Order: sequence, then C-alpha cells, then structure tokens
Amino acid sequence: KLSYRLQKVAEYVPADSRLADIGSDHAYLPAYLALKGKINFGIAGEVVKGPFQNAQNEIKKENLQEIIDVRLADGLAAVELSDEINVVTICGMGGPLICQILEEGKAKLANHPRLVLQPNVGEKNVREWLVANNYQIIAEDVLEEDRHIYEIIVAEFVDAKAELTAKELEFGPYLMKEKNEVFKHKWQKELDKIETVRVQLEKAKEKPVAKLEYLDEQVKLIEGVLND
Ligand code: SAM
Repeated sequence: KLSYRLQKVAEYVPADSRLADIGSDHAYLPAYLALKGKINFGIAGEVVKGPFQNAQNEIKKENLQEIIDVRLADGLAAVELSDEINVVTICGMGGPLICQILEEGKAKLANHPRLVLQPNVGEKNVREWLVANNYQIIAEDVLEEDRHIYEIIVAEFVDAKAELTAKELEFGPYLMKEKNEVFKHKWQKELDKIETVRVQLEKAKEKPVAKLEYLDEQVKLIEGVLND
C-alpha cells in the first residue's frame, strides 16, 4: 500500500498525465497512478542500481511495462523531450538535491511540465528555485506520517515572474495562509528546537551574541506567523 505521503502527492497529478518520477526508488508512485488509470505514460527514473532494480521488479510484478519505463539515469537525464512529459514528481529528498536535479535538467523542462515536489527539508530552497525559474506555486500541502512532517509544493510555469516575500519563501504562501494543525505543529517543533539551542548557547562562557540575536529574530518571525 502506498504511503499516505505519496498518496497525497498523487492527488496533484492530473488525470491522463504523462509523468516522470525522478528518484523513484520502488516506483510505487508511478505504479499506483498507472493502476488507478490516472497516467497514460510514466517514467520511473533512478540513478542507483539497487533502487533501479527494485523499480523494474515492481513494474514487472504489476504488469505495467506497457505504461511505465524504468530508466537508469541521473536526474532529468531520464527524460527525452519526445516523451512529452507534462508532470514531473521529485519526492522524498532534501530541497537542495531537488533544486540540483531541476537546475541540471533545465533543458528537459522545455515543455514546461507541472512540478510536484516533496522536499523532506530545505523547502525554502525549492521555492527560491521555482521563483527564479518562472514557476508559480499553485498549491501546497503539509502532512504528518510516522512522526515526520512533509511538505508538498505544486508549481506551474508562467510567463511573468511571480515574486514571493521572504516570509512566503520560508513558510509557503498557501501553507501560511491556511495554517492547518500540521503547519502549526511543524513550526512549534521548530520553536522548541531553537529554544533548546538557545538554552545551550546561553550557558557558554562567552555568549555568542550574534547567533543569539539571530535565533531571537527567528523566534519572532515564527511566532509572528503563528499568531497572525
Ligand atoms: N521518491 C521516493 C519516495 O518519495 O518515497 C523515493 C525516495 S528515496 C529517499 C530517494 C531516491 O532518489 C533514492 O532511491 C535515490 O537513489 C534517488 N536519487 C537520488 N539522487 C538522484 C538523482 N540525481 N537522479 C535520480 N535518482 C536519484
């Protein structure tokens, strides 16, 4: 059964899509979408042999070879423009790695596919990349599974650049407006983490003043968003 996290990601893949799932591991996401009849074609891209073989086995087991191609490649090198991919999913990695894959594979985004990204950390990096590359965030989600909190960022290409404020880059333009329980939990946890660090720093013989000031600013920023 597909994880709740990837089920949520799947909700942002429109019907009849041609999907490339980069860093697919077991190819659970494209397999699920193909079995549901939601995609017409899929690529499961993997750069590591083991996961690549896992993906191949899964696609064979589910008898989906007609719909899903498993490809051993680094990032978007798994995609050819002639595949006419209109949705790219990149999930379960850090934001900086997601950005690196997008940046290095820019040429493969020439058809401007929808991007459905699920960074485990470094969400701000992802939003910065999107803004810099004319991708506008059209939806966001934040969810909790097995005591981990995950964000999902969905973006589409636009001609005019859509700027985000510093706050929106950090917290997510939709997430900070909606402020659901998981969002509040995520940032409360962050406040608790900062407090732990602050207590430690306060104990130091020579207080790192600049660092403490920075943490105070962060606390103010987060509390401002939570109490807005
Ligand atoms: N996407 C799945 C998910 O969300 O459950 C798997 C996540 S798994 C933690 C990350 C996968 O990305 C690994 O299987 C890893 O081999 C793959 N990966 C990392 N860098 C990659 C790259 N540059 N190109 C393709 N796959 C990559």
